Amino acid sequence: MLIDNVTDILNRMMRAAVLADRSPDTVKLVAVTKKVEIEAIEEALDIGIRVFGENRVQEAKAKIEHFRGPGKDFTEKALSGVQWHLIGNLQKNKAKYAVHLFDLIHTMDSAGLAEEIDRQALKINKTQRVLVQVKLAGDETRHGVSEEKMMSLLKEISGMSNIQLEGLMTMPPFFDDPEQTRPYFRRLRELRDEAEKAGLLLPELSMGMSHDFEVAIQEGATMVRIGTALFGERSKQ
Ligand SMILES: *Cc1c(COP(=O)(O)O)cnc(C)c1O
Repeated sequence: MLIDNVTDILNRMMRAAVLADRSPDTVKLVAVTKKVEIEAIEEALDIGIRVFGENRVQEAKAKIEHFRGPGKDFTEKALSGVQWHLIGNLQKNKAKYAVHLFDLIHTMDSAGLAEEIDRQALKINKTQRVLVQVKLAGDETRHGVSEEKMMSLLKEISGMSNIQLEGLMTMPPFFDDPEQTRPYFRRLRELRDEAEKAGLLLPELSMGMSHDFEVAIQEGATMVRIGTALFGERSKQ
């Protein structure tokens, strides 16, 4: 049952925060609904989940439009405080849709993409909240800015008028043992601390997924992105 999973995850998040001497309200749950049916998202809304993460613009558009817009059954109250986050890679040619759809984009990773987001946000008079995705040393995944290039990208983005830079995100390689992910989480926090010494304010750290979020919280995560542990295994296709 979704309610049991939600209760379990929120309890574990709280416990991990307290054990790390952090206030539980400093860690937010992003419920990852990629490949999750609309009925399950409605159920999550009913339970009180407010932040949803999607990794594909196209799929998210269909879902978000199910809730928003004229002629929908959902009252403003039912949707109050609901946020949609983009947690998957974003291509420049989809920037316009992303700016229309998402409250927070976790996956900013190039100056070119940032310029396009800034341009599209200006057009609709929006300040787009973003996180910069960092590809940490030792991580072979494709997306994210490298540690070496991170600082100059952060500086560039922080000067853009229609973007609000709020923090960093990372998605380390998968390890069966979540302890092996710890150095990645710790490294992201160190990079954030270095950036803050250089005068940038980056309060948010988006890190940790179903199998390693407790370790991420111990290392300073402020947003954990959880799919499987809430909604069950996704189909592979
Ligand atoms: C799918 C996904 C998640 C959630 O992963 P689970 O293991 O199902 O919790 C988190 N972050 C990103 C970027 C994802 O694509």
